[in-house]
Amino acid sequence: MTSVLLENVVKYYYPAVGAAETKPTLGLDHVTMKIEDGETISIVGPSGCGKSTLLKVIAGLEFADEGHVRYNNVEVTQVTPQDRGVGMVFQDYALYPSKEGQKNMSYFFEVHHRTEEEKQQRLKETAELMGIGFEVLMDRQVDTLSGGEKQRVGIARCIVREPNVFLMDEPISNLDAKLRERTRTEIKRLLKKFHITTIYVTHDQQEAIFMGDRIAVMRAGRLEQFGTFDDLYYSPANLFVASLIGTPPISFLPAERAGDTLKIAGVLSVPVPAALAGVLPQGRSRIGVRPEGWLVQAQTGEGLAMSVARIERLFTERAAFAHGEVASAAVNALVPLDFPETRQIFLTPDWERAYFFAADSETALHTPGVPMLF
Ligand code: ADP
Ligand code: MG
Repeated sequence: MTSVLLENVVKYYYPAVGAAETKPTLGLDHVTMKIEDGETISIVGPSGCGKSTLLKVIAGLEFADEGHVRYNNVEVTQVTPQDRGVGMVFQDYALYPSKEGQKNMSYFFEVHHRTEEEKQQRLKETAELMGIGFEVLMDRQVDTLSGGEKQRVGIARCIVREPNVFLMDEPISNLDAKLRERTRTEIKRLLKKFHITTIYVTHDQQEAIFMGDRIAVMRAGRLEQFGTFDDLYYSPANLFVASLIGTPPISFLPAERAGDTLKIAGVLSVPVPAALAGVLPQGRSRIGVRPEGWLVQAQTGEGLAMSVARIERLFTERAAFAHGEVASAAVNALVPLDFPETRQIFLTPDWERAYFFAADSETALHTPGVPMLF
């Protein structure tokens, strides 16, 4: 049972002595976060933003230059991975390819001179936990297994040691799309059973949303926001988070307030909605609207004219998206599945679902918050 606390963690990578580059790279920039006991969190962000570095600092594979790492409020900042009791699964499996699954799993018990009885007991428990068909994998040599099967063995090898904290760094990004979907469902099912504090790193926002009870969004070494999907989606901390979360993404259009009139994209003038009167500054800003935040009309000429490039029909979701442009900005709008094929539609923002950002920075001026459905 372990909670993990990071407090103002700073991590630099120093260039090797004599290297052409002399400036250190900032890997983590004052990261503070608390991961609750038993929780699964995802860390997401573009390549190079510090996800792996954060994981390594939590594991003890890298040490923080400033700040603190605590497990259950006990300082572990300088403690080695072995003594933190972490289990790690990486993208490349780091298994012994010429050994059977079972040998990969039991290696730890042999190295640490645990009893044969304990080893057999844990192997049995873990095989049961891993579910139907796993015992077959345990008897096979690792290099005869598929990518997905190797990853299951990799996970089992961690779990068999009963780690305090379970760390996964893009564990399925090497698998092809179909297998990735299956494997992530499988991992999620296992994590539900394990009740181990888990930190799951991915660059894929949909995977992050699927895996994490909460999601940490990183950029350039900083933690931009840490919260539930609803927090990130309805109350993004800034424009970066708003654009990262959501498929298809939120659209942005220029907005300008003059007195009590608001002009969108230079063409649609409306009275400033009462709920926004106190938050919208005079002058320029940006409005953000998600696909479901548009009121869509196929016929009339009211609202913003959108030229439709294509309509994407998602039969399994019973919905469709119109993709196109409003005043040369990319816009995606949710429409009914049976929406007619058409080249032009008219959009008006649903003001209760509108986001506003500063014109020249990523600052959020107004976010809608989770909608009240009842
Ligand atoms: P991510 O996992 O999000 O792709 P990383 O944590 O690997 O990002 O990297 C964060 C930053 O630190 C990047 O700028 C990267 O180039 C740098 N970095 C990572 N590892 C090292 C290292 N061993 N030496 C020098 N720089 C590194
Ligand atoms: Mg990485």
